[in-house]
Amino acid sequence: MQCPFCKYKNTKVIETRSSEDGFLIKRRRMCENCGKRFTTEESFPLVVRKRDGTTELFDRQKVILGVRKSCQGRPISNEQMSALGLAVERKLRATGQAEIPSSEIGKAILEPLRDLDFVSYLRFASVYQDFETLDDFKKVIEDLEAYQQSKSEGKADTDSAPAQTAGTDASAADASASEAHASDTRVTDSTAADSTAADASADTAADDDSAEDNESRMSAPTAQ
Ligand SMILES: [Zn+2]
Repeated sequence: MQCPFCKYKNTKVIETRSSEDGFLIKRRRMCENCGKRFTTEESFPLVVRKRDGTTELFDRQKVILGVRKSCQGRPISNEQMSALGLAVERKLRATGQAEIPSSEIGKAILEPLRDLDFVSYLRFASVYQDFETLDDFKKVIEDLEAYQQSKSEGKADTDSAPAQTAGTDASAADASASEAHASDTRVTDSTAADSTAADASADTAADDDSAEDNESRMSAPTAQ
């Protein structure tokens, strides 16, 4: 990656970190020519394709809003709702697809919601899966009973432990997907440079008084 300060072509990665949710990779880089440091961020955008064919960026808050009705009156905290939104995003990212049909989102909600609250799950599933007869409910309730039993017997299948496995899956998918969508990554990279510009100039301001100067020089790579 080109140095945003002196435009030298070789910069060294000195530290790589991923954000807490694992969806963003931050790299601290140092220019091999001028020695200045800056941070880049990499992520790949998760795009939802709606039924009418249009697309929009995945929004965790929308997932939470969509589930909230099913959770009305249930003892579920805001933290648990946020965790649910995160679990859904992990599941979707773990598919390794950069574009997800909107119908997949409802499907991805089912499992984490089941782990959270059976009543909410039943309500949500009945709407999402268009339950029409009592048998539809019966079948899901039987499945829930079987699931509860397998859980209490301590041999929950791998399916029912999404929290841990989804995490590792998601980061693996993240890595492959950001490779597959290298052009997307670059787009995000350059926008990310905007937010990291502050970071970079703050850093260099410590050993260099020309922070303002740095900032104006940072604007060149952002435009790429
Ligand atoms: Zn440089």
